[in-house]
Amino acid sequence: MRFSVAQMESRREFFRSTARYGVLLLLAAGATMAGRGRLKGQTCLNQGLCGGCAVFDRCGLPPALSAKRVSSGGRS
Ligand code: SF4
Repeated sequence: MRFSVAQMESRREFFRSTARYGVLLLLAAGATMAGRGRLKGQTCLNQGLCGGCAVFDRCGLPPALSAKRVSSGGRS
């Protein structure tokens, strides 16, 4: 069984592409799962009063996002 250089290069490129896109797919899946986990099950602990809330820094709920946007001067 003989392989030409062109076939070997093609095969190498195939494996490189498979590895590259596989890693990208895993990263996208991980980011999606992390995003879901952050919002899923998160409930407001302080009746929407974000000032002084213990979890403000890591909170992803709309009132906290709005407060963060305001405190940063409207920049996102
Ligand atoms: S930061 Fe704001 S929205 Fe988040 S839990 Fe605290 S009070 Fe609720």
